[in-house]
Amino acid sequence: MMYLGNLPMRVGAFHPLGTNDIVLNRRLLGSTKSQKQKANVFAILVHEYLHSLGFTDERRVRKLTYKVCQDNFGKNHPTVEAVLTGPWASLSEEDFDVLEPELDLELVRDFERIDSAYII
Ligand SMILES: [Zn+2]
Repeated sequence: MMYLGNLPMRVGAFHPLGTNDIVLNRRLLGSTKSQKQKANVFAILVHEYLHSLGFTDERRVRKLTYKVCQDNFGKNHPTVEAVLTGPWASLSEEDFDVLEPELDLELVRDFERIDSAYII
């Protein structure tokens, strides 16, 4: 499940452990859809998806995100640059207490269609 939420700009997204949710920072989407912006969002989604698969070590997830993007797009692709420079931050429980009133979660409909047959 993917949600959009109002997060600080230093946070691209987060994955609540034990869920299949990814909360993407709505503020990163903005109104301009530049290639750099798309690359940033893609890198963030790969990163959070790896967390959702059970990888909890932040350094390992960053390395895997880099490898996935480099192996698929080449080392000079904007996505690889985004992996190296994007907004990555770990949120503490105290952060969530501060964030919650402004989070304004919005479910992204049809992000994962139930009729897709890729899970066997
Ligand atoms: Zn992370």
